[in-house]
Parts: sequence; C-alpha cells; structure tokens
Amino acid sequence: MTIPEGLLTALRDSQRVCVLTGSGVSAESGVPTFREAQTGLWEQYDPHELATPEAFERDPALVWRWYRWRRDIVAGVEPNPGHHALVRLASLVPALTIVTQNVDGLHQRAGSSNVIEFHGNLFEDRCFVEGCLVDDADMSVEVPVCPGCGGMLRPGVVWFGESIPESATHEAASAVSGCDLFFSIGTSALVWPAAGLADAARQQGASVVEINLDATPLSSHTSFRLQGKSGEVLPELVDCLAVK
Ligand code: NAD
Repeated sequence: MTIPEGLLTALRDSQRVCVLTGSGVSAESGVPTFREAQTGLWEQYDPHELATPEAFERDPALVWRWYRWRRDIVAGVEPNPGHHALVRLASLVPALTIVTQNVDGLHQRAGSSNVIEFHGNLFEDRCFVEGCLVDDADMSVEVPVCPGCGGMLRPGVVWFGESIPESATHEAASAVSGCDLFFSIGTSALVWPAAGLADAARQQGASVVEINLDATPLSSHTSFRLQGKSGEVLPELVDCLAVK
C-alpha cells in the first residue's frame, strides 16, 4: 500500500494525535470481533444478547461462562504488529492518546502508556450491586460474589445499554478536543458513544484517518482512508514516517 504523502505531512506537523481503536485491531492477535460469527460453543448466541445487564440478571452463569471463554482466549494471545506500531508511532509525534473500545488490554501489553479504556477491562471484576472493583473474590465458583456485600460479581466491562464511566468519558473528550489528527482504526463506527468521537474531532478541525478492512459509516467523512489490515497498514505507515 502507498501511504499518502499528505498523511505523512499531517503527522509530521501534528502536535496531538488521538487514536480510537476497535476490535479489528486485536483480530490479527486471534481475538474475535463481535461482528465475526461466534464459533464453536457460542455460535448460537448473539453477543448483543449476552453483553447486557438484562442477560446477566436472566442467566449470570451463562454470561460468566462466555466471559471466562473470552478471558481464556485473550490470556493466550499476544499483541500484534498493529499494537506494536502504535507504540512506535507515539515515539514519533509530540503527544498521542489511545482511546480503545477493546477490553483485552493488548495495547498496554504491547507497551502503550497513554490508553483510555472506554469500555472497561475484561479481567476486572465488579460488584453488580455496588459497582466497586473487587480483586480478592473467590473466582472458583460459577457465579462469584462480592466479599463485601455478597452481591453477584460481574466482569468490569461496559455492556450494551450502559453508560461509559465518567472518568473515561472526560479523558476521551479531552484527548479529542485538543487533537489535530484523529485515527479510527479497526472499528465499525457503529457503537455509540465511541462512534461520535470522530465527528467531534472533525468538527473542531482535526483531520480524520480511517484504517479498516471494510468501509464504515465514517469512511465518507475522512481526510484519509487506508483500506487493509491494521497489523499491516500501521507498521507500513510508521516505517514511512520514521524515514526522514
Ligand atoms: P466491531 O466488531 O463492530 O467491528 C470491527 C471492525 O474491525 C469492522 O469494521 C471490521 O471491518 C474491522 N476489522 C476487522 N479485522 C480488521 C483488521 N485486521 N484490520 C483492520 N480492521 C479490521 O468492533 P467495534 O467497532 O470495536 O465495536 C464492538 C464492541 O465490541 C466494542 O464495544 C468492543 O468493546 C467490543 N469487543 C471488544 C473486543 C476486544 O477487546 N478485542 C472483541 C470483541 C468485541
């Protein structure tokens, strides 16, 4: 792929870069996206019907089985060249913040430091009743309980229909409001409010860049669109940028 010269110039001139990532960035590590068909055991379930508070109240054991399956997948994979390229990109621009919709922690495992977890973290446990983080629960039971109040524990992710934590909303808004370049990478641009961050960036004058295998609702509103796998496009982009 040829990286547009205009994008390299924009990156060289940029003071603050904001990067929104979605599950496509982790796909090449072997973490399935929600829009890919669920495989094996989970083929018959729609993630949109498992990742909700209602599903958890209806059948917490089922939801925990699904999350344990996802935790096992993520625990067994490694960050891919796309994650690593973002670490390098951060060293080539004055400031870079990643806002990730991913809950897998792979950006941090790759070495990225400025990461806002917009949808929480798969490996955290929260009290379903009180909302507090719990780190010393007995996880050997089918549905773990809060040692403090005895309520059910849930995974520390943001489910469909739930609000984004206030701190993440605030930090992401601040990252977007000061950026001059905004990247949307490996996200379908369909899940709100994350999908609105690109619009907010564009409205305050940032150039928007999309890296995705497919077209999305954002594609026609971008300054640059690089179609391909993030694990291939990002290393190429960073290699071009590193050449003076
Ligand atoms: P999505 O599943 O809606 O869309 C994935 C997007 O990535 C698609 O547009 C697809 O074309 C693109 N894509 C797939 N492989 C790619 C690749 N190799 N390179 C570049 N693009 C690629 O994902 P979303 O937009 O992140 O939103 C779904 C929700 O699912 C989010 O809330 C997220 O928290 C959650 N989720 C997270 C993980 C994870 O943490 N890894 C995995 C599954 C779902």
